Formats: sequence, structure tokens, C-alpha cells
Amino acid sequence: MKVLANDGISASGKEKLEAAGFEVDTTKVAQEQLANHINENKVNVLLVRSATKVRKDLIDATLDNLKFIGRGGVGMDNIDVDYAREKGITVQNTPAASTRSVAELVFAHLSGMTRYLFDANQKMPLEGDSKFKELKKNYAAGTELKGKTIGIIGFGRIGQEVAKIAFGYGMQVKAVDPYVEEAQVDLDFFDGQKVSFTVKPESMETVLAHSDFITVHIAGAGKTLIGAKEIGQMKDNAGIINTARGGVVDEEALLDALDKGKLRYAALDVFVNEPTPAMKVLMSPYTSLSPHIGAATLEAQDRIGTELADHIIEKLG
Ligand code: NAD
Repeated sequence: MKVLANDGISASGKEKLEAAGFEVDTTKVAQEQLANHINENKVNVLLVRSATKVRKDLIDATLDNLKFIGRGGVGMDNIDVDYAREKGITVQNTPAASTRSVAELVFAHLSGMTRYLFDANQKMPLEGDSKFKELKKNYAAGTELKGKTIGIIGFGRIGQEVAKIAFGYGMQVKAVDPYVEEAQVDLDFFDGQKVSFTVKPESMETVLAHSDFITVHIAGAGKTLIGAKEIGQMKDNAGIINTARGGVVDEEALLDALDKGKLRYAALDVFVNEPTPAMKVLMSPYTSLSPHIGAATLEAQDRIGTELADHIIEKLG
């Protein structure tokens, strides 16, 4: 059986598949040549991340060969999932593999943001030798995370992992999730000790009004959850972090609130119009930015690869 990992696969995943007798090709085939490549090389398993699109036309054109479509990561908006399944093709993602990595990125942004590191990292190489004292003064109003309240919108896998880290920091946790009544969040420590917290999601209005930071972790593309109205309900000088999907936090409303001083800062890992985000979003002086790297850790890539390999071996091995 042949596997085409068009957006790559971890070495551990490749090794696992090869040990089970699969042939793994990591050639990056251009979108328009994909159907031909799959048919000519009799590819049975197509592995993608977010770059490769698997739409109806590709599925129709490769039905004789394709048996399994694997998506490394969570969102499957680049795949016509229902259509593929109707045609008898297995479609599988790895929803849990990147949970911890995304949650840790939230805190990378949050810790950096509250000490203005995103700005200091840009200005120190340029002015660190000539304006050291001025810069020091600029960043004098940093804040600690301990004792602050984080409002988590979407209390699923990543939302709950964010809560674990927040509890570790000594933060208060509030959550919004219409589909979660109550969640037990377990913190596991290196020496085997455990501490459990129970979180009961509250209304959006309450959480917006009482949080120093809002972080968004809902599933589903295309929904704008935090717009001008919601930002208006937030505390003054609060911060927003979006690592979910571009547009879940309205970019225009966010920039407006930052420019007007309603919000102090924001962090964005995801953007409307990826991979060419709006320049005004990228140029905002109040934003901590990263290019959609939530799942981009060695550990998550490893888990994604081995999880997919396990699914493929179980189904086709
Ligand atoms: P999940 O399905 O485990 O959790 C999502 C939660 O959102 C669910 O509990 C659901 O009930 C809740 N929800 C749905 N609609 C809501 C609403 N209107 N208001 C409040 N809550 C709502 O998903 P997850 O694994 O935690 O992933 C969350 C998001 O993270 C996804 O959008 C995914 O695309 C994104 N993600 C980003 C990266 C990255 O690289 N930045 C990596 C992985 C995942």
C-alpha cells in the first residue's frame, strides 16, 4: 500500500508505517497535479495538513485508488469530509495531538505580552544601545499573571489544557461553552501529585466583563465570536489571544479597540486570509504575532505522525 504524505509526516510516523509494510512518499505534489500523481502511483492513503485541499473533484478523480485521507491536526475545513465518506473513503484527523502545544503557545504569547516582549524584541536590536533607559521606561508597566482572570471561550480539549496552565500560574479561570456543563481539570505534577479543579462555564457576558485576558478555543471555521459588541463588554485594558481560527476574533474590531486604547494588547497565531494576512494587522504595535504555529512543536508533530500511522495500520494494515 502506498502513502503520499503531501504536507509531510514525522519521522516516527513514517517509520511506523514502513515497519507495517507501507510505502511512504513525502514528495510535495502541487495541487493541480495531485489527482494524476495519485492515480499514476496508485496511492491509497493521502496525508495532508492544512495546505493541501481535498475537494470533491480530487476525490472523484481518485476513487479507484484512494481509501484513506488523513489530516494531521484538528480542523478539516480543507477536506470535503462528508463527500469522501459517502464515497467510502475513511477520513481521519488527529484532534488531540496538538492540544498541549497550542495551550503552551497561548502562555508564550500571554507571558510575553504582559511584559511587552513582542515590542522589546523588535526595539532592542535597533535602539538597545542608544535608548536603553527610555526603552526600560516604556516597558515599566508590565503585569504579573498570578491573580489575574483568564476567560476561556470554548472549553474543549485546548480550552481545558489552557485552564491547567492558568491554574499553575495562580490565575482565576472562567469559561464559556454552551455544550459543557461542568469540567474537571486535573493538574498532574512531575512527582505524581495531582490537583483537581472543577470549572463551570458561565455566560459570555459575565466572562467578558470579569476577565483580564480572553483566549478563544472554539471549534469550527468561519464563526466570528468576538466582535465590536463583545470587545465593548470586556474590561478596559484587557488582552485577547486568538489561536483558534482567523476571524473568530474580528480583526477590524480588534484593531480599532487596540488603536483606541480599549484593549492593551492582543496575540494572534491565526489570521483571516492566511497565508497573506492583512498588513495592518501585522503592523499593529500592540500585537504579539506568530504564523499559525500552534501545533508546530516536535512533540505534537511526533504525536500527529504516530497517531495517523496507528489509524492507517488499524484500517488498512
Ligand atoms: P474541541 O472540539 O475539543 O473544543 C472546542 C469547544 O468549543 C467545544 O467544547 C465546543 O463545545 C465549544 N464551542 C463550540 N461553539 C462554541 C461557542 N459558540 N461558544 C463557546 N464554546 C463553543 O476543539 P480543540 O481541540 O480544543 O480545538 C479548538 C480550536 O483550536 C479549533 O478551532 C482548532 O482549529 C484550533 N487549533 C489551532 C491550532 C493552531 O495551530 N493555532 C492547532 C490546533 C487547533
